[in-house]
Amino acid sequence: MSSTELLQRRFDILGKRAPLFYEKPLHIVRGEGVWLHGADGKKYLDAYNNVAHVGHCHPRVVDAICAQARTLNTSTRYLHETIVRYAERLAATFAQEDMMVMFCCSGSEANELALRMVREVSGGTGVISTAHSYHGNTAAVSQVSAILSTPDQRGPDVRMIPVIDPYRDRGQQDDATLVDGYCAEVDKAIASFGDGGRKFAGMILCTGLSSEGLPTQPAGYMRRVAEQVRAAGGYFIADEVQGGFGRFGSHFWGHQVQGVVPDIVTLGKPMGNGHPMAAVIARRHIVERFTELNPMYFNTFAGNPVSCAAGMAVMDVLEDEDLVANAKTTGDDVLAQLRDLAQRHELIGDVRGRGLFFAVELVQDRETKTPATDAAKEIINAMSRAGVLISRIGPFDNILKIRPPMPFTSGNADQLIETLDRVMSSLRVAA
Ligand code: PMP
Repeated sequence: MSSTELLQRRFDILGKRAPLFYEKPLHIVRGEGVWLHGADGKKYLDAYNNVAHVGHCHPRVVDAICAQARTLNTSTRYLHETIVRYAERLAATFAQEDMMVMFCCSGSEANELALRMVREVSGGTGVISTAHSYHGNTAAVSQVSAILSTPDQRGPDVRMIPVIDPYRDRGQQDDATLVDGYCAEVDKAIASFGDGGRKFAGMILCTGLSSEGLPTQPAGYMRRVAEQVRAAGGYFIADEVQGGFGRFGSHFWGHQVQGVVPDIVTLGKPMGNGHPMAAVIARRHIVERFTELNPMYFNTFAGNPVSCAAGMAVMDVLEDEDLVANAKTTGDDVLAQLRDLAQRHELIGDVRGRGLFFAVELVQDRETKTPATDAAKEIINAMSRAGVLISRIGPFDNILKIRPPMPFTSGNADQLIETLDRVMSSLRVAA
């Protein structure tokens, strides 16, 4: 089927609103490591995909899935060694020694379960999130996802706090004053539940503030927020769906980078390298109370032996190929090159990043910081035509988002930067 016919038939059956990357949608037929191969024979460097965490179609993950699928695939209602071993291995990556594991099939489902837990265990309903968050698409989770819901849809049980944004909001403030201001918003949100006769239940935060635009968080900011939440009797949910499994290079989890000890952690995307799996990892007393209140939580596909074999293989590859260390060294290299690029392109207002996760904020004017939204759109499309895949995020959609698979090499980094440099130099839109 030609790509044109495929697109038309897709529009007819999936609808035009089903999201597609890029103005000229890509028809990808094969993946391998950091590479995606198009139906047109073109090879693309994938600098965006955090689901193919250890590389597209990693042979060890594929083999583990196939071997287990050939042997047995049942639900967690049966005893199976791989399920228990994998859950134990996951739990061992957390500093908290009393973490328990509940498997799900998607990040949305994990956050749905986490929200149920904090609400039912606390006896409250009020939940806080950020003003540009994305946590998933179920009814309850979309209410705490700012970019999916209107204030009316969120209803009286949800409050959004402003996203900490040192680049735009710092002014003359030092870190401490900036953090004080943002933390005051958290206290205000907590207090507002009581004013409305509601009990506060907790807060959900993506620890990298990924959809929010990956702002540089002043040291101690998120830890202080978590303390405020707990002091008010709430639970802190760390959403690690996007940034987890070593992406930030220095630590295995984003909350560890921020010095936070969460009550509940949710995982997803990279967990099975594309095999749909997710989990809620929570303190024992929370899980035990939740299971008293709900004697049965069962999820047919979640944590089945094939999923756990995939998850186990991802952990093996991360360890054996030293990919967390690679995220740090290659990530540092990319960051330095992006900063160098900012010296040559006025359009770049700010460069942020950690490990293999970067945000390049584009502005029309470095003084006014007016978002260069059209330029960001043109750049990601021109990059895809030039064979390098990235995307954009943020409240103004003016932030280039770069988040490659973990085996990204320094050679890949050079190609990414050279292409970005070239594309930015030949930009058509007026910045
Ligand atoms: N949380 C975060 C931070 C995410 O980025 C996403 C997906 N973009 C989700 C949750 C939802 O995950 P899923 O699409 O697997 O439901």
